[in-house]
Amino acid sequence: MTQPVTEPVETSGLVPLAERTNVLQAFRLTMVAAVLICAQLWPATLGAPQQALAPITAGYALLTAAVEVVRRSLKRRSLALVGALLLADGLWIAAVVARTGGPRSLLTVLVGLHVVAVTLLASYRTGLKIAVWHSLLFVVAHTLREAGVIPEWDPPALAGAGAVPNSMVVSGVVTFLVLAVGTAAFSSLNERELRRSRRGLRGLVAMGSELQDVRSPDDVGPVVLRSVLATFSARRAALVIGDQSGVREVWVGTAEGARPSALGPEEKMPGKLLCRCWTERQPQLARMLSPHDRMLQAALPGGRNVVVVPMVAHGRAFGALVVEHGGGLDEVMNASRVNALLEFAAHGALAIRNATLLAEVERLARVDGLTGLPNRRTFDETLDREVVRAARSGEPLSLVMLDVDHFKRINDTLGHAGGDEILRTIGRILATSLRQIDLPARFGGEEFALVLPDCTGTAALRLTENLRQAIASAHGNRPELAVTVSAGISTIPRNALTGAELLKHADEALYLSKRDGRDRATLAMRRPPRAEVEAADHLGIPA
Ligand code: GH3
Ligand code: MG
Ligand code: MG
Repeated sequence: MTQPVTEPVETSGLVPLAERTNVLQAFRLTMVAAVLICAQLWPATLGAPQQALAPITAGYALLTAAVEVVRRSLKRRSLALVGALLLADGLWIAAVVARTGGPRSLLTVLVGLHVVAVTLLASYRTGLKIAVWHSLLFVVAHTLREAGVIPEWDPPALAGAGAVPNSMVVSGVVTFLVLAVGTAAFSSLNERELRRSRRGLRGLVAMGSELQDVRSPDDVGPVVLRSVLATFSARRAALVIGDQSGVREVWVGTAEGARPSALGPEEKMPGKLLCRCWTERQPQLARMLSPHDRMLQAALPGGRNVVVVPMVAHGRAFGALVVEHGGGLDEVMNASRVNALLEFAAHGALAIRNATLLAEVERLARVDGLTGLPNRRTFDETLDREVVRAARSGEPLSLVMLDVDHFKRINDTLGHAGGDEILRTIGRILATSLRQIDLPARFGGEEFALVLPDCTGTAALRLTENLRQAIASAHGNRPELAVTVSAGISTIPRNALTGAELLKHADEALYLSKRDGRDRATLAMRRPPRAEVEAADHLGIPA
């Protein structure tokens, strides 16, 4: 045989090659020991005394030891050596079988064990090749025995048994091949499952590392769906956010990518399958999506072999991961796949929860707790940004500073709770009276600031007058809460060119409003300093 019997070891990727080779070596040692012990203990049954088997077996053991030494000294993987040793195994087994009765020998069991061991430890293909190699040697040895080239040395028990029929040789060969194929088939079942779970684990790890970079809850859906589709080779998948009372959001993933799905009013009702998944908190399987499951039908029309697993946070189901495997009605959706999906759903749920908490913390860091308006930090950032934008676009930018008049007195008479109530009312009025692009903020204490992009001083004055009147008349039915506000207004480029200057001029104008009797708005009059005008000219900003 010129072609090597093995390419052993196309790796199954389950146990490292070196470890499997070690087990094979231990197996060889066991075979050698078993043959020598049997020959020693039951020479009559085996048909050959130890002296007859010892030289061949010692030679084989020496060869195995020498190969082992070379293998260990080699840095690289020594596939050729491992393959050559498999050929030597076959030769030794054929020799001991031939010396102990040929096809009738008890030692033919070694062939079977060897085929099984190689199939399990190397690979299906290697096992099959070794079975062919054993069959070849088996037939050749039998032919040589029949021709008298190998002296017949049958055990006394077989004396007079007559010639070995050809059918016995053929059945031996068939047994070796069937053993190889059978072993491979049985072991591949477990191997396939192991590979699948490894793939699931890899997918989960990849998804986990992708989710680490996600900051918004909206970004979780696409990552989870992409990972699920890739890992489970699923046709379509959906991520549903909601509960029994209604579905709030749905993302649908296909080979083309993941996108949010718009739901009609009727499709916002979750349907039986989702409700069962949420109440039982257990995965649900459906061969075909029912037409009554409107929501799921809208997301995955005509869905077949659908698995729905719950997404849970803080002991409450808040969503579901839905995967459609497609295929026919006999498609197997086994427990391990469903369990793996549960893990994806659990990681997705955790990521959504973390991203939601992060978004909430970020929101809280930007909002004033009492009035719900943007806070001083947001105001500072917005003003800086709008000043740069105004400089670039040449559009005016106005800033209004509002201060409640005699607020200390109000606190003194109504208490802080009454004062807070007034501040909340002013916050509500500001939040609902401005354009989308404007920013009302609580500047601090009883002072508010309005950033008004693309707004001249005159327009800002008009708006402030309206606000002042709205605030003054806000508590018409509770006159004890009635307050007035004073305001100062400055504008880029009329009064200033930087945020700091803008603030300073608005403050000064506010001071003028206070000085002149309160309950009024004043436009800043000062023009920007000469140096800034020159700088603006240089930048091409109209003054
Ligand atoms: P003026 O008309 O000159 O502005 O008089 P004023 O009393 O409003 O003057 P001042 O700015 O000195 O007083 C502001 C008061 O606002 C002092 C402080 O106790 C009160 N204040 C600041 N923050 C809050 C708050 O969150 N709630 C309440 N109830 N009061 C606050
Ligand atoms: Mg004040
Ligand atoms: Mg005040």
